Amino acid sequence: MQLQFIGCGDAFGSGGRFNTCFHVTGKRANFLIDCGASSLVALKRAGIDRNGVDLILITHFHADHFGGIPFFILDAQFFAKRTRPLTIAGPRGLTDWYIRAMETAFPGSSKTKQKFELSLIELAPGQVWRRENIEVLPALVRHGPPDVPFHAYRVSVEDRIIAYTGDTEWTETLIEIGRDADLFIAESYFYEKNAPLHLSYKTLAEKLPLIRPKRVVLTHMNDDMLARKEGVEFERAEDGKTIVL
Ligand SMILES: [Zn+2]
Ligand SMILES: [Zn+2]
Repeated sequence: MQLQFIGCGDAFGSGGRFNTCFHVTGKRANFLIDCGASSLVALKRAGIDRNGVDLILITHFHADHFGGIPFFILDAQFFAKRTRPLTIAGPRGLTDWYIRAMETAFPGSSKTKQKFELSLIELAPGQVWRRENIEVLPALVRHGPPDVPFHAYRVSVEDRIIAYTGDTEWTETLIEIGRDADLFIAESYFYEKNAPLHLSYKTLAEKLPLIRPKRVVLTHMNDDMLARKEGVEFERAEDGKTIVL
């Protein structure tokens, strides 16, 4: 199986990178992790068959992770001519946020009846959610007000474990989410600045011995972090880069 970075940028286009969207494919798996505002463009640029995707896992409702949903849905309806069911799974509040996002992007669009079955699943932190051959463990991370859920994910699929921090400042939860994972995708927003609600490279590097993933890839880097080629010992994501698992 493999994971391709369709987009690994931050919210503000640092490095000219697309917003967050990872595409995971295996023998029977075909899903996205996050679908940021620019993700439909990025999926098309990467030549991805959107109708093949049957699940979109959302970490949180910021536009650079969730804002591509209205474009994906309307493209599926009107251009990709989707007929296969689609599931979107994400934090509590997903159903309301879905309607809000659709209505903001294209007023009236939340009432359009799709020609495909659409399921919106709100995931409970700490509880494994199973769907066919995929197991997803969501965990709450720290990226905004405490009453709004932000998720990291540990995904077990076809004997591999993919973990993703989402956007978050350091929290001990990440140890459980990432422990011994085959692939640990970690936000590395700043190089060393410890700003609230985001993870810096320095903090991550200090904590990684507690997590011990088999492979680490840094994502969601700002311009300063992108400029630091020296002194960064872990692999960095690139738009289009593929990791074989
Ligand atoms: Zn983000
Ligand atoms: Zn965010």
